[in-house]
Amino acid sequence: MVTEEQAQTLLQILDLVRTGSAVTRPDLVRTSELGRAVIAQRLEQLIALDLVVEGDVLAVPRGRSPRGLQFNKTRGYVLAADIGAQGMFVGLSDLAGGIVERVYLPHDVGSGPDETLKVVTAEFDTILQKREDFNVQLWGIGVGIPGPVEFATGRAVSPPIMPGWSEFDIRGVLQERYGVPVWIDNDVNVMALGELRVGAAVGHRDVVVVKLSTGIGAGLISNGVLHRGAQGAAGDIGHVTVGDDPTTLCRCGNTGCLEALAGGWALSQRGAELAAGGESPFLAERAEHHRLATADIVAGAASGDRVSVVLMRESARLVGDTLARIVNFYNPSLILLGGRLMIAGDAYLATVRNIVYSRSLPLATRELVIAKVALGERAALHGAAALAIDEIFRPSYFATWAEGNRVPAVI
Ligand SMILES: [Zn+2]
Repeated sequence: MVTEEQAQTLLQILDLVRTGSAVTRPDLVRTSELGRAVIAQRLEQLIALDLVVEGDVLAVPRGRSPRGLQFNKTRGYVLAADIGAQGMFVGLSDLAGGIVERVYLPHDVGSGPDETLKVVTAEFDTILQKREDFNVQLWGIGVGIPGPVEFATGRAVSPPIMPGWSEFDIRGVLQERYGVPVWIDNDVNVMALGELRVGAAVGHRDVVVVKLSTGIGAGLISNGVLHRGAQGAAGDIGHVTVGDDPTTLCRCGNTGCLEALAGGWALSQRGAELAAGGESPFLAERAEHHRLATADIVAGAASGDRVSVVLMRESARLVGDTLARIVNFYNPSLILLGGRLMIAGDAYLATVRNIVYSRSLPLATRELVIAKVALGERAALHGAAALAIDEIFRPSYFATWAEGNRVPAVI
């Protein structure tokens, strides 16, 4: 029986090996503050689980030469999917978060959960078949979706751009098919996790990652871990009230939400109205070919179209206002801005910076960095993989499967 307390020390040692902080037993004694006997015993357990492997004898100047310790990152693999509004990234990751397979597929999430999961599972199957020769052991699946998720149940809850998905049991479908545990989170949270593990937030402990695309949302990292709140709705800053105009109806049904004034869908709607009124030849020309989208406003601003520039500036101002309040409340060391509005967003970033620095308390902004995300659209796939890996190695769950030689299973 592995108790949760034992699991914690097992994971403490595993983490030291995983991160390279300890490469020998003497290193573990030095860095873990655990007794030699406990270290020896836990290490035996980790070696029995095949999570740590002992390598070659290392040459040292004096004394007995220790064997090198290594995290066995290919012991298990996780499948990951980052499902977006118009397309998805699907991939396979080792336990160290290294993506070994990655594919992009255009797909409209509005086609519903059955159709979408058919595409996801077909690609998962292809990846697993492709890796058959490598004896891949599947340990879990992480999925990001573009809507609010109740994390405990893995269900989408009234997602505004995903008709038919509300309360759909995504986890159940995937667990049934693959027989491994599945974790679901929203797109912004997985993007934040991706940036935390391999992107611009590496080394930071208190971070706000804002996704500025068709909609607006934020992922909060608090003390090094994702902060989801009681139900999983933390960080949904798109629906913070910023205006009192009753005519600015939001997709959520309320009025005056940040997203309804500054989100990509709101900007393209306003751009279309202004283009129809003859105020923007640039947007009018584009509107002849397709319905205006976020990308058109971004392109307009980049090419100097006055209407687009003003729309983007106003959006940045509102986002900056909202973030200034969050900085005073939450005191992050880093704010990362990503999403489609940021693709050519240096002016946008500059406006947000000015507002946040001028409206937040000096103590809160003393060390604050505001920057663009580093991974762009690749972040969420890394994050979806990290989501599953984090859960596999969470002490309470790890304790249930680490006993004997079992692997993670559906519970
Ligand atoms: Zn709203």
